[in-house]
Amino acid sequence: MHMSAALLLPFARRISDDQLVSPEEVPRGQACNCICPGCSHPVIAKHGTEKVWHFAHAKASDCANAYEKSVHELAKQLLREQKVILVPKLQVTLSARDAFGRSLLEQETVFESRRARLDSCVCGKPLDGVTPDILGNSSGRDVLIEITVFHRLMLDKRDRLVETGKSSFEIDLSLFKSVQATRELLEQELFENPNNRRWIFHPRAAEVAEQLQKTLQDKVDQSKTDFAAYQEQLAIKRDGEARIKAKQATQFAWQPMNDGTTLGLPDELEWRASFPPEERWGHARAAFCSRLCLSRNQVDEVMSEYSKRSHLALITPQELAARWAVALRAPVPEIYRYFQEAGYTV
Ligand SMILES: [Zn+2]
Repeated sequence: MHMSAALLLPFARRISDDQLVSPEEVPRGQACNCICPGCSHPVIAKHGTEKVWHFAHAKASDCANAYEKSVHELAKQLLREQKVILVPKLQVTLSARDAFGRSLLEQETVFESRRARLDSCVCGKPLDGVTPDILGNSSGRDVLIEITVFHRLMLDKRDRLVETGKSSFEIDLSLFKSVQATRELLEQELFENPNNRRWIFHPRAAEVAEQLQKTLQDKVDQSKTDFAAYQEQLAIKRDGEARIKAKQATQFAWQPMNDGTTLGLPDELEWRASFPPEERWGHARAAFCSRLCLSRNQVDEVMSEYSKRSHLALITPQELAARWAVALRAPVPEIYRYFQEAGYTV
């Protein structure tokens, strides 16, 4: 859609005093004595009954930015005339993610939107390598104002505004991309609407952000401590549950070889959840039987009673060896040797 096709030229520059005027302020037709703010060619004032009063180029024209230019120029003129600005609310917001993955928000409102009187207000005056639309001064402090209508504020200009270190804000009049501009609406948007503007830079914002950053960092650090404690608690709980299960599974009668302290195996022994298939350990069993003068049946009995998969998942080789030692009246080191040869421990 061609936006400008539906939008009519709302303001023109009156030659006699170089002011931007509305069609109501001038005689109709060529007698308005105005030029287009975009291309400086003569325009005529249309006081019709079907459309809102507007201006039109006197001769056919391909002037493309007349509408936007007229809104932009009148906005600057109104600010210059009235020497009043509606300053945007200054609010600083920082966010972060804590150790639990929750988002944290720190926000401070430094001041609410407010009206300020300007002691001076000029257009087109360069300052520290940038030319803002408006350079105002209020109680000795510079304030730089950018007014955008159809186009966003370019990043490089934004950077140059920030680099000045002066307060600067943007007034966004993009409403007029889709709404026909009138002087009354424009005045409302300029002087009454706090929501169409935001700070580009404010020296106080950096100070406040630094404070908020500290608070935020403290919260993130605290969450790291909390998370570590939480992890530890979780591990203790899991550990406790596993021990209770193991205890429940070993309610049958057996006496440990000693008081439950280490039986001579390294602490970090790896073991399987079950014995491998019989053909893998048949010869290990034969050797075990022959060393300890046991019958194959005796060994098989103990293996089937104490070495079911459901038991092996819950107990350690140390505990299992202790039971076998009791059942077979065999020395524990021999039993470890068998576990290893049979492929149960690694
Ligand atoms: Zn034009």
